Amino acid sequence: MTTTPPAGTVVLATRNAKKLTELRRVLAAEGIEVLGLDDVADYPEPAETESTFEGNAVLKARACVAATGLPALADDSGLTVPALGGMPGVRSARWAGPGSTDAENLALVLRQLADVPNDRRGARFECVLALALPDGRTEVAHGAVEGRLTMWARGENGFGYDPIFLPDGHDRTTAEMAPEEKDAISHRGRAIRAMAPLLIAAMRGTAR
Ligand code: IMP
Repeated sequence: MTTTPPAGTVVLATRNAKKLTELRRVLAAEGIEVLGLDDVADYPEPAETESTFEGNAVLKARACVAATGLPALADDSGLTVPALGGMPGVRSARWAGPGSTDAENLALVLRQLADVPNDRRGARFECVLALALPDGRTEVAHGAVEGRLTMWARGENGFGYDPIFLPDGHDRTTAEMAPEEKDAISHRGRAIRAMAPLLIAAMRGTAR
């Protein structure tokens, strides 16, 4: 295995191929190569034990830089639904129970909102992206998109709750949008664009 990474390499601490693809699409334009966890040696990944998106993102980024020695990005994201008291929130990925699938999580939210009328189906996707650098510095960027939840799933693109999320000002769910169209408005797209200048500045300091 090579020991010296090319300049402008960052590890995204995720095994979610779709998140990796989204981040690569945005950062390719900046000449930054993004590795995933499958591209680096295995290390014990921390459990998402924090109660905030930021807490979990920082936890994951710090564990990754400590294990790889490379600048590390980690995101934590989820769906916040006021009618469900702010849930699923940090529990979005396991809302229907440990190991639950996207389809099961989405179906549970739809059941929980079955009697909730349109004007109370507001929801927000949130994303926090944390960058942890080998010298110990940490940077954090936030992104959010407001919308509401549909009565039934529509669309095949994206992942997670995309088939039931209708962003404000749009008449299609994020699962009915082309990837680039979703990136332009999504919580993750916004967090990535907010992080990009911080990352580029940091890479200038760490590039070999
Ligand atoms: P994380 O991997 O811990 O950040 O958990 C994120 C969970 O929130 C995912 O498993 C999805 O259920 C949901 N989620 C986050 N971002 C999105 C998105 O862009 N579309 C749909 N669901 C999302």
